[in-house]
Parts: sequence; C-alpha cells; structure tokens
Amino acid sequence: MIKTNEFQSIKLSFTNCYFLRCNEGYLLIDTSYPKDYEKFEKKIEKIDIKLSDIRYLFLTHHHDDHAGFAAKLVEETGAKIIVHKNALPYLQQGIPEEDSQPINKRVKFTFKLFEGFHDFGFPPVILSENDIILNGDNHELLKKLGIDGSILYTPGHTSDHLAIVLANGNAFVGDVAMNFLKFTGIKRRPIFVQDINTVFESWQKLIDHGAKSIYPAHGKPFDAKDLMISKEKFANS
Ligand SMILES: [Zn+2]
Ligand SMILES: [Zn+2]
Repeated sequence: MIKTNEFQSIKLSFTNCYFLRCNEGYLLIDTSYPKDYEKFEKKIEKIDIKLSDIRYLFLTHHHDDHAGFAAKLVEETGAKIIVHKNALPYLQQGIPEEDSQPINKRVKFTFKLFEGFHDFGFPPVILSENDIILNGDNHELLKKLGIDGSILYTPGHTSDHLAIVLANGNAFVGDVAMNFLKFTGIKRRPIFVQDINTVFESWQKLIDHGAKSIYPAHGKPFDAKDLMISKEKFANS
C-alpha cells in the first residue's frame, strides 16, 4: 500500500476544500455552504477529480461553511464521513453549537452585518454505520487509508474540531487557525472561539506533531511559526 502526502485544493465561497490522495481515490476535507454544491461539481472537474473518486469526507467540524453540502455529497457519492463524536447532535439537526464568541470587537462588528442576512443552518447530516466516528486523536486510520498522517483533536473553535497533520509537515487545520479578514487583527486566531486558551493548546499540539505548513479552511497557507508569534502576542492579554 502506498502512503502519500499528495493533495489538491479548491475554494468555494470562503472555504478551502482539500483533497488528499488515498487508496482508490480521495479523502475530501470539508465541504462549503449548502448553495455551493453545483460550483463544487464544476471545480472538481477542472482539477480532474470525479465525484465517484471521493471515498471519504473528513469534517473538521460541524459549521455550515464546512458541513453545508455534506448530506448531498454523501448521497451522490456514498463517501464515508469521518467526524468527531461531539459533532453528531449538531449534524443531525443542521445547527451550530451556540457558545462561541467573536475574538475581538472588530469581528463582532463585522459579523453583526453578516448575521443579519445569513442563516447558519444546513441540511441535516444523518450518519450511518459505514461512517467513522472518532473520540479523539487517531494515528492509525489515515495510514490504513493510504495517507501518511495523523488526525488530531483540536478544540477551542468548536468542541468537535479535528485536524490532519501529514508526515511532511502539511497541516489541514479547519478553523482552529485562520488567515482571513486581516483588517480585524485576528492574526491566525479563529474569528469565533469557545475558549482561546484551548485554541492555543490545540496549536501547540499541532506543532508537537510536526506541523510546519498550515493550510486553513479560510485564507492562504502560512508558516506554523506564525502560530507561536500570535500566541505570544495574545496569551494572557
Ligand atoms: Zn467554524
Ligand atoms: Zn469555517
């Protein structure tokens, strides 16, 4: 069995979706908003990926910009979902967890406008016995699928958050770090958090597991060293 570090990406609305090469096809990291499914079909055609090549859908967490068209994708492809157990009640109802806060006043102000016309719901994702529900870190599953990497539990943005770190240092971190809305001064922090110290612990865990290049769901990739710079700036402030 070949274990690879290969990946491709597409961008839909605000979300980067990453495709990791795996045995007999691809593991897709995250979908986007429900409305983006048709755009998704067009964009994967351009990078030569067929719907039928998508074997697994890895959800970093349950938010609508990540799980938005998960139900539709699974219906069309039969892909198996890989997700943390804490996501299940929210996926089943198509709603977000409620206890997250904007990271600063600028984000709060920016999102006041957005929230006025955005519905955070999404079509419910009902898991089946074929899906893979994780309880924390997992160092075996990806290797079995032909991907040279590990899955890490990385809470702080949400309580169900998972990330992937590959053996070559590429880390796909969902929303536990962002490179987005620079004018808000977030400096790699998520725009919404449940607890910023838990976010910083998750960053440390990524680095301890060899993360070197950070591929966030929102914004361009960046050097893992930026996480430590940001943490020093904001820890205890
Ligand atoms: Zn999120
Ligand atoms: Zn997001």
